[in-house]
Amino acid sequence: MQEDILVIGAGIAGLACAQALKAGGMNPLVVDKARGPGGRMTTRRRDGWQADLGAQYFTAREPAFRAQVAAWAHAGHCDRWPDQPVYLEGRRGTPVADGQERWVGRPRMSAITRALSAELPLRTERRVTGLVPTDRGWVAEFADGDRSGDMPRVVVAVPAPQAAALLPEGANTLHAALEPVRMTPCWTVIAHFPQPLALGYHAAFVRDDGPLRWIARDSDKPGRPPGETWVLHAWADWSQDHLELPGERVAWTLLDAFAQVTGAAHRPAGYQAHRWRYAASARPLDAGYLLDREAGLGLCGDWCAGDRVEGAWLSGHRLGQAITG
Ligand SMILES: Cc1cc2nc3c(=O)[nH]c(=O)nc-3n(C[C@H](O)[C@H](O)[C@H](O)COP(=O)(O)OP(=O)(O)OC[C@H]3O[C@@H](n4cnc5c(N)ncnc54)[C@H](O)[C@@H]3O)c2cc1C
Repeated sequence: MQEDILVIGAGIAGLACAQALKAGGMNPLVVDKARGPGGRMTTRRRDGWQADLGAQYFTAREPAFRAQVAAWAHAGHCDRWPDQPVYLEGRRGTPVADGQERWVGRPRMSAITRALSAELPLRTERRVTGLVPTDRGWVAEFADGDRSGDMPRVVVAVPAPQAAALLPEGANTLHAALEPVRMTPCWTVIAHFPQPLALGYHAAFVRDDGPLRWIARDSDKPGRPPGETWVLHAWADWSQDHLELPGERVAWTLLDAFAQVTGAAHRPAGYQAHRWRYAASARPLDAGYLLDREAGLGLCGDWCAGDRVEGAWLSGHRLGQAITG
């Protein structure tokens, strides 16, 4: 089957877009620079333990996304996370009483994007470095020097700064639309402890001064292997100020902060730091998606639709429908 549209990025936005394109009768090809799909919904798996590295949970408000989440839940790809987080201040946790229903991938966050990508043609470890206009649409250039065939249309489903770098110089309207978007970083540490920490809460928004914004006991989420696994997220400002610090130093700084805010006495048996250079959109657009029909170029992602997993899915889904509709 001849592919007629290239989707760059196998995060939730790119995959939702490709799914809608396929449902509308097109033949998408999805490419991603990483070793697997998922983007910021990825899960890191270590020897005998695992942790969700990016998105911690998601909410579902819009009817279209609620229906999709219900279908994923029915298929066993996601589940409600019944544990309510707390606000943590001075080692005291106050329940977050926001009435929010929180969802997680099951048995890991990446289960959702794995399930989506299983039904789509996906090529991984394909970093696109540029898009060249041709008589028949576009050719994508890859980092290894390879080039795609002619594609009548292209969807760019990557964080805004990376999208701007891929757009050809002549795409002035799209460049102008992207310009105001600002994305912020997040240093993350995942850690596995040999003994239970017995902290009395499952996840917390940290309100003490210091580098930590969020901590979560990943092993409490539905379907996870037993153990004592935590995810620590730093504030965006702290992450920006320490963006180029070696991962090992960041890991110990955040682990020390974790011991400080929780009072946990044990040291981890295994840990890893990860830098998300483009974690969140400080100023997302409310356009939903960007589409230049004449050029055959579309853009989607969380930064187009209010940030977060739901926004990313809606952005990709609606762009796919707009292209085929
Ligand atoms: C630390 C952290 C915590 C978060 N917590 C939450 C949360 O609790 N709840 C929530 O709803 N959301 C959360 N989010 C946000 C959520 O993860 C994102 O909004 C959503 O996953 C974005 O999806 P996306 O498809 O738009 O982008 P991405 O997931 O970033 O996907 C883009 C894809 O494009 C690929 N790519 C980039 N450049 C290229 C290239 N040149 N060539 C080929 N491929 C390329 C990348 O490898 C990636 O797979 C969090 C994010 C982070 C980082």
